[in-house]
Amino acid sequence: MTRMSDLTLCLIDRPTAPPGESVSIVDADPLQATVLATDFGVNRGDGIFEVAGCVDGRVHALDAHLRRFARSASMLDLPKPNSDAYAEAVRRAIAPLCAQRPGQEVLVKFVLTRGQEMGGTGGPAGWAIAYPCPDFTHDRSGIDVVTLDRGVRSDIMRTTPWLLGGAKTLSYAANKAALREAKRRGADDVLFVSTDGHALEGPSSSLIARINGVLVTPHPDEGVLAGTTQADVFAYAEEVGFRTETRPVLTDELAAADALWLTSSGRLCAPVKSLDGRPMAVDAALTAEWNDHLLARG
Ligand code: PLP
Repeated sequence: MTRMSDLTLCLIDRPTAPPGESVSIVDADPLQATVLATDFGVNRGDGIFEVAGCVDGRVHALDAHLRRFARSASMLDLPKPNSDAYAEAVRRAIAPLCAQRPGQEVLVKFVLTRGQEMGGTGGPAGWAIAYPCPDFTHDRSGIDVVTLDRGVRSDIMRTTPWLLGGAKTLSYAANKAALREAKRRGADDVLFVSTDGHALEGPSSSLIARINGVLVTPHPDEGVLAGTTQADVFAYAEEVGFRTETRPVLTDELAAADALWLTSSGRLCAPVKSLDGRPMAVDAALTAEWNDHLLARG
């Protein structure tokens, strides 16, 4: 469990100020209320966020997270977040925790909301909050996963872009509900599938399948979030000789996969040891190699 004393919070006073304009970033007490009860983010989940891993002050894939943050903002018609201010707030938020925990993993979440809903006058709210990374040793050795129908077709981005597939919004209640359903079914995590039989992603992770020796991940055009961890695994795997493909993955193909992983910034690569109760082979050596590489990233 995270203790409040282990959290560090930095508030950004003008998170969508144009580049070059002055923005102040202030340390704040995470035990004090800082977001107004009238904020769209609080009332509607109308806002965006990112979570990045860090070790010893290095934020993994920060530029990729900032780019995706800007892309999510654009998909929600939010003003563009000031990337320099967010990068500074992230570094300031993680500094004390990383200093207290040399060599250990720390997570940082950064958020932008739409601002005031109920006649308030403030603009969008922005902040970065750092906290210790949970112990993922168990998950990194293998997780039990169930497939759950997401109730959408794989062409959702063309037919229904207002569902915001592929944006990292604050509206994660359905993702959390899916995880509770997985627990009820005795599993650790979920792989969402489309109504037309495509494997998609987890509620907070990307899918990588090894099929006939090729590493495959579903295409962002199918309404999945473009994973920063998956991208860095693919870049590394290509360097060491793997072929990779980003393309639709049919659920039927998963039966032929010789390994599956769910990847995300905090937990990194979690190998799937069973899918819908069917045991899957775990490649422990390859998983450890990937996770070591991910932890060493700048
Ligand atoms: N897909 C969803 C829906 C997510 O929420 C996340 C991360 O939380 C991912 C995929 C994995 O993305 P990343 O590897 O950038 O953390």
